[in-house]
Amino acid sequence: MIACGCDVCLSKNEKDKRLRSSILVQSKKTTLVVDTTPDFRTQMLRENVKKLDGIIFTHSHKDHIAGLDDIKAYNFFQHKPMDVYANQLTQEGLQREFYYIFSEHKYPGIPDINLHTITDKPFMVGDIPVIPILVFHLKMPVLGFRFGDFTYITDANRIDDIEKEKISGSKILVLNALRKKVHISHFNLQQAMDVVEELKIPKAYFTHVSHQLGLNDDINKELPSHIQLAWDGLKIDLKGK
Ligand SMILES: [Zn+2]
Ligand SMILES: [Zn+2]
Ligand SMILES: [Zn+2]
Repeated sequence: MIACGCDVCLSKNEKDKRLRSSILVQSKKTTLVVDTTPDFRTQMLRENVKKLDGIIFTHSHKDHIAGLDDIKAYNFFQHKPMDVYANQLTQEGLQREFYYIFSEHKYPGIPDINLHTITDKPFMVGDIPVIPILVFHLKMPVLGFRFGDFTYITDANRIDDIEKEKISGSKILVLNALRKKVHISHFNLQQAMDVVEELKIPKAYFTHVSHQLGLNDDINKELPSHIQLAWDGLKIDLKGK
C-alpha cells in the first residue's frame, strides 16, 4: 500500500509484493484474462503475453477494470477488436469509466472492443468453456468463473447454496481472503477457510490479500497445507486435473 510502513509493505519477500488480483487462463488455442486491473500492463509485460483473445470481467470496481485502456497494444498487433465478456451491470460501469471507448465519434488509437453480454449461463471464449458463478460483494452481484476443475472467485463475502453447487467438485479453488478481521464486502481468512472446508475442495489458494493479513510465510504456516496464499506469478498446470 502506498505510503505504508508495515512489515508486509516493507518486506523483501517477492511473495509479499502483491499487485491487484486477476488471472490469465490459457489453452493451446486461447488466452484470456479475468479482469484488467490497474496493474494489467505491468502483468502482461512481466509475463510477456504476446496474444490475448478475450477479457472476462467479474465486476466493475476500479481495481478490476482500470487497465482496460492498455489493451490498445493487442488491438495494434492483432488488428482486431478485443472480445470483452461482461454482464449488464459491469457493462454500465465500463461505459461510465471508459466513455470514450463507447463514444460515437472515436478518437484514433483508443481501445477497440467487441462487447459480449454474459449472464449466469455457461459460455465459450475461443475453445475455453466458462461457467459463471454468482457471488455477492456486500450487496453487489459479482461473477466468479469455473474453468473445468478450476474455479476463480474474487471480491465476495457471500455465496448462495445454489451457486456453491456449481463450485462443488472443483479440484482447485482460488478465493478471496482479505484479512483476519471481518470485512463488510470480502471474506476474511476464517470465512474463506470455511468455504473451502464446506465444499471439500482439495486445493485452495487465497487471493485479493490485503497487507493487513500479514506476511506470506507467516500466514502459510498457520494455514493447513492444502490451503495457501496465492502469489503474483503463481502458475497452475490444469492438464490432467
Ligand atoms: Zn502495509
Ligand atoms: Zn470489488
Ligand atoms: Zn477488488
